[in-house]
Amino acid sequence: MSASIIQPVRGMNDVLPTEIGRWQFLERVVRELLHAYGYDEMRVPVVEQTDLFKRAIGEYTDVVEKEMYSFEDKGGERLTLRPEATAGIVRATISNGMLRGARHKLWCVGPMFRHEKPQKGRFRQFHQVDVEAIGFAGPDIDAELIALTAQLWRRLGISRVALQINSLGTAEARRAYRAQLTDYFRAHHAALDEDSQRRLEGNPLRILDSKNPAMQSIIAHAPSLPDHLDAESREHFAALRAALDALGIAYQVNPRLVRGLDYYSRTVFEWVTDALGAQDAVCSGGRYDGLIAQLGGEPTPAIGFAMGVERVVALLEQTGTAPATVGADVYVVAQGDAAVRAALVLADRVREAEPARRVELNLGGGNFKAQFRRADRSGAAIALVLGEDELARGVVQLKSLRDESAAAIEISLATAGQAVANWFKERVR
Ligand code: ATP
Ligand code: MG
Repeated sequence: MSASIIQPVRGMNDVLPTEIGRWQFLERVVRELLHAYGYDEMRVPVVEQTDLFKRAIGEYTDVVEKEMYSFEDKGGERLTLRPEATAGIVRATISNGMLRGARHKLWCVGPMFRHEKPQKGRFRQFHQVDVEAIGFAGPDIDAELIALTAQLWRRLGISRVALQINSLGTAEARRAYRAQLTDYFRAHHAALDEDSQRRLEGNPLRILDSKNPAMQSIIAHAPSLPDHLDAESREHFAALRAALDALGIAYQVNPRLVRGLDYYSRTVFEWVTDALGAQDAVCSGGRYDGLIAQLGGEPTPAIGFAMGVERVVALLEQTGTAPATVGADVYVVAQGDAAVRAALVLADRVREAEPARRVELNLGGGNFKAQFRRADRSGAAIALVLGEDELARGVVQLKSLRDESAAAIEISLATAGQAVANWFKERVR
């Protein structure tokens, strides 16, 4: 009787060693970049109270209406796998008493969960890099945050992305606009799809964010948000644009960019790409001056964004900036019982001398030919060869695997670690 195979959950992916190189490259660049801009990493739970997301994200959003993985745990608590990270980070700053007028620049990376229809670039478990600046009213931080994302694309070698920005104004100023928008959509009620009809009374701004192609023409003719901006928001937006100009960051003002959530105010932005097909948003964010108070914290202005890791990894695959796999640096070849024992020690010495390099020891024996085949496949730059003869003389052969014409160099077994370190130092320069 053969056991049945357990399938992975639909829309949830394994990231295999054959592609991990790009993920690790991205994570390394992100970590260095956020360090450079003064952001601190923070880690928050993957599960939160369902109410947190309902209150933070808003009832009339795709996420809350249809996409949440919610369940009751054994103690009867209503919990949800996080669909995004902002709510959790804000909750954490409140629960940990971090606000009190203080300012924080925070980031995290990890899996998010949304019950969407899986397709290219859209999954049920996906990853986000999430960045939040809390306690800053802007517009300087708005500009710096966007500059950070522009810098990220440069460091990743990604160029097929374009920036769209908009201002939503304050919640008060939006009220008048909302009334007009409601009138407009009511007049076109029969042409609205089911989602939009439901949102009309709850949050008509959400209709502007509809992805339904049939809705686009009605949306295009709707009253325009920028015409309704309050004076202060207008100034804020002008200052942001001037700062982006000074930074040399190109952008397009997209008056339809709403990011629909109730908590957004003033600045919203999105980086889109034409290189990935339908799922074109790679990084989206905005200012949420009202959210912290809405969740019971003291009123604190804030701005943040989330970047979709899978989509950026897909861009990296196209640019070829980073290798797909992680290869070895040094491969140790050894034959004969005593030589194999000495090779265990040798490999460790090299790892001590060069802690960041991958030193792979041939395991499981094999003749020299088979071992060299493995050495080549490992991607190593050099092989260290230790046979009975070398062991007897207290030496090791250092052989370049990239440059076939280079003769093997004989180095002393006792100082092999240092010799390998020197070999790399001379070539990296
Ligand atoms: P979309 O318009 O693609 O549904 P969204 O507005 O729901 O995106 P956000 O909630 O702002 O997206 O999330 C920020 C980023 O996370 C997006 O720009 C995208 O890159 C990524 N993302 C969102 N949902 C998914 C998903 N289901 N699978 C993969 N990446 C996603
Ligand atoms: Mg979505």
